[in-house]
Amino acid sequence: MRTLKQLDVNVTNRCNLQCVHCGFESEDKTELSLEEYEILLSDAKTLGAEKLDITGGEPLLRRDLPNIVMAGSSRGYYVKLITNGTLLTRDYLAQLRENGLDGIAVSLDGSTPERHARIRKTKEDQFYRTVESIRSAKRLGLKTKVNTVVFASTLDNLPDITQLCIETGADAHRVCYFSKVKRGLHSREEPADPYELERVMKSMKRYVSSIDLSFGSPIYGGGCFEDTDMLQILPDGSVYPCSVLAAYGTALGNVHERTLTDIWNDETLWQGYQRCSQGCPAKKIRVEDLC
Ligand code: SF4
Repeated sequence: MRTLKQLDVNVTNRCNLQCVHCGFESEDKTELSLEEYEILLSDAKTLGAEKLDITGGEPLLRRDLPNIVMAGSSRGYYVKLITNGTLLTRDYLAQLRENGLDGIAVSLDGSTPERHARIRKTKEDQFYRTVESIRSAKRLGLKTKVNTVVFASTLDNLPDITQLCIETGADAHRVCYFSKVKRGLHSREEPADPYELERVMKSMKRYVSSIDLSFGSPIYGGGCFEDTDMLQILPDGSVYPCSVLAAYGTALGNVHERTLTDIWNDETLWQGYQRCSQGCPAKKIRVEDLC
């Protein structure tokens, strides 16, 4: 019998940015209500879930975000918010912290306003808001991670981005491999050469005493989903085994039609995933483990 460990909820498809790599581009404005999340969170708790990631779209566009955070923390979840960081103020972060937020992951795709804005399709001054939100989160005692999507054109910038993460006080820097899905299909940006990415990450070993540094690369396969232990729920209620498969794949089911418990316990839905082990870009490699 599998135990569910983590629930990721994309609480909206809406976003204030138009990042070139976005895997959640969608015209669908459907969203689950707070009451529906309360039911899902209770269901997932009975299945064993301990971690809740709240993501989007940009989750700060939901006015009831503090209530969703509270719904998770009051049920005993470790609650993490995944955001582009452009809409956060210190006061709002403090409110989320009071409501039980434990951690935050903020997206930063360049070490300068110009480089960040080119990927995120935003104004250069948003870079400063994003960096300030990382600093504020750290000051408020939140576990703080920075996510960076890397492209062939930005590989050279990675050491400077990591250095900036360290300067903000972030606990972790996760480098994510660009996959050509959704909006990425129409982008001129190209994925980094995976071997080049590994070479650059190896050259950054000097940073691992200051920050938890990891990356995802498609050259490492090896059974990412063999111990499938999470569920990803999109705003329309569709349920997937993870965010990568949500961008590429077919849903396991929809919570408008079946309960989360039913979907989790239906072994016929999970058979294909036991063999899903080839080159998943979501697989995490810690830089300190590279030889
Ligand atoms: S990647 Fe995130 S921040 Fe960028 S457009 Fe998509 S949802 Fe918004």
